[in-house]
Amino acid sequence: MFAHRACRVAKRYINTTIIPMLCRKAGVPTADVRGNITSHRARFTIASQLYNAKEPKTLFELQEWLGRRTLEATTHYVKITPNALARAYNDAGYFAKSVRTIEVLADRDAVTSGAAAANDEPWQYFDLGHGWCTYTFFEQCQHRMACARCDLYTPKGSSKGRMLEARENLQKMLTSIPLTDDERAAVDDSQAALDQLLERLTDVPTPAGPTTT
Ligand code: SF4
Repeated sequence: MFAHRACRVAKRYINTTIIPMLCRKAGVPTADVRGNITSHRARFTIASQLYNAKEPKTLFELQEWLGRRTLEATTHYVKITPNALARAYNDAGYFAKSVRTIEVLADRDAVTSGAAAANDEPWQYFDLGHGWCTYTFFEQCQHRMACARCDLYTPKGSSKGRMLEARENLQKMLTSIPLTDDERAAVDDSQAALDQLLERLTDVPTPAGPTTT
């Protein structure tokens, strides 16, 4: 880019004279927290921008562009930005796989009458598919795949469950719950994964007290 009479301008002259002069003309500082602005910094910045672009250059393309001999030398120039990292996670679908959205019924009567606060009456019902959980910190419960013996559980088929669903003044909401790796395996894969999960929790008490066995 910088040449004089068809000869390349020396790197030292670019860094100590041309770039400081350009910075002065542009009204920007000649240094920042990472040190002086140099030709190397410019290559580094442009390489990182190309690597993190919406349609990014591959390392092989950057190697050619930078004129480096090895891929390893090229990697020194590129730094992945938090945005590009988040996009990569998103594209991989990891978080989508690890989160499930479930329905929650909120009992407005119990809240507005004060019964929820005064008598500790349940006011939120998390839909587990087969039944309802009234534990406020439901997302922290390790037993949510095997609730049958928990006092905080109401099966949908039971009379109490049917009465709950028939009630008016229940507000429907959605909430997202993160799944552990074990739970995701049980949901996605097999009965064997579910059995393994249940076995691991055999002696772990539920929030209501007793274990699930
Ligand atoms: S075990 Fe009890 S507290 Fe845990 S999810 Fe099931 S019903 Fe809720």
